[in-house]
Amino acid sequence: MKTKEADVLVIGGGAAGLGAATEAAKEGKSVLLLEKGNRLGGILNQCIHVGFGLSLFKKELTGPEFSYELLELLKKEKAEVMLESIVISLKPDLSAEVLSKEEGYLKILPKAVILATGSLERSAGAIGLSGDRPGGIYSAGEAQLLLNLKGHLVGKKIFILGSGDVGLIMARRFSLEGAEVVAVAERNPYLGGLLRNKVQCLDDFGIPLLLSRTVKRVDGKERVRGVLTVGLDEEGKEIAGSEVYYECDTLVLSVGLIPNWGLLKTIKGEKSSSGGPMVYGGLMSSIPGLFVAGNSLHVHDLADEAYIEGVESAKEACRYIDGEKDFREGPAIVAKEGIAGLLPGNLHFSEEGKAELCFRPKLPLVDGELILEQGGKTIKKLFKMKWLPSIMEHLTITKNLLINYHDPIEVTLRRKA
Ligand SMILES: Cc1cc2nc3c(=O)[nH]c(=O)nc-3n(C[C@H](O)[C@H](O)[C@H](O)COP(=O)(O)OP(=O)(O)OC[C@H]3O[C@@H](n4cnc5c(N)ncnc54)[C@H](O)[C@@H]3O)c2cc1C
Repeated sequence: MKTKEADVLVIGGGAAGLGAATEAAKEGKSVLLLEKGNRLGGILNQCIHVGFGLSLFKKELTGPEFSYELLELLKKEKAEVMLESIVISLKPDLSAEVLSKEEGYLKILPKAVILATGSLERSAGAIGLSGDRPGGIYSAGEAQLLLNLKGHLVGKKIFILGSGDVGLIMARRFSLEGAEVVAVAERNPYLGGLLRNKVQCLDDFGIPLLLSRTVKRVDGKERVRGVLTVGLDEEGKEIAGSEVYYECDTLVLSVGLIPNWGLLKTIKGEKSSSGGPMVYGGLMSSIPGLFVAGNSLHVHDLADEAYIEGVESAKEACRYIDGEKDFREGPAIVAKEGIAGLLPGNLHFSEEGKAELCFRPKLPLVDGELILEQGGKTIKKLFKMKWLPSIMEHLTITKNLLINYHDPIEVTLRRKA
């Protein structure tokens, strides 16, 4: 069997993997980037709308344009890239088995691994959608790929379930291509995606957003004929008599992305409250030397942030290779009230004495205050008039704020008293 050695193995060539490979190579490590598809860029290739690159390049780019700029950065460094090469297993000793179109079956022996395998879409089965399974039910990403990369419009009269960003963006794409988007239904009483996407993709096209409403049943045998929707009360229970039937030939599901960390599950990696793998200081998973970045860690709203997280994970992987082992020593981070998807599990300070944490507000909150406490004493406060679950929050903590290096830090978000 053929084997290959590398300092850093990066799995996945989307925004996060490109950031990781570029940074690790810049730091002088030997890098192998494996991508199962036939080109780099990941999900960016099918996102032909603008909205990328604002923080990295200070200009608004489409997904493919953003990907091009990232590839130009990678080309400046010395990193080996293998396309059409899928990692099929990872072991706790970090060795990876790969099936490559060009080189066949390979074993990679790296010193550190960065998992950047992106996310998966929730399917009809995953949300327990009732009714038949006729033709005409697609996930939003699937419909996007078919339309933007293969030129197939999935329907003429389309109902969208879920108000996540992918669904909102697809509502506009379908409209621009001449399809009628009947409505977008959202089970929560608030929007799932970014406000700018609601304004630009629904309001500008006169597409109704139905909050606190879901699809109760899909109607149709060979092909979708319509959907029966139902209103939901504050506890998310169906309201009797609130059913409304919408005629349509297609149902598009935009009901959430799930971190794709299957490769870690087989080696019993710990799971976080965000549904992705647990990471400790420096984005290192529960397996020493194995780092996670991008959507395979937690779903990012912005590709720029996925790229930056890839860069950060690579810096930490290089520190690990250079002998640093205390990634789990810094203070633990504990979510108390109003916080979802808090990461990492503990703080690992950089040489400049800085560490970052991120989270999403559990619910929309007006006049909310974020409070960080250690041993019952407040060490940091942050007030904002609006907190939204659709926006991932990042917070930098400096070491000098800590009262005791080893005590856990409790994080709370609540309405300001
Ligand atoms: C529809 C949609 C619209 C968006 N709009 C915007 C926007 O307007 N602005 C913005 O900033 N962001 C936007 N985003 C978010 C942004 O695109 C993502 O956050 C970011 O691109 C994710 O990058 P990633 O590298 O984590 O994952 P991905 O891009 O999914 O990359 C993962 C890569 O890993 C590869 N892979 C997976 N498993 C393996 C394996 N076992 N072996 C080898 N390779 C593997 C995959 O083939 C893929 O190429 C949007 C996202 C979507 C889905």
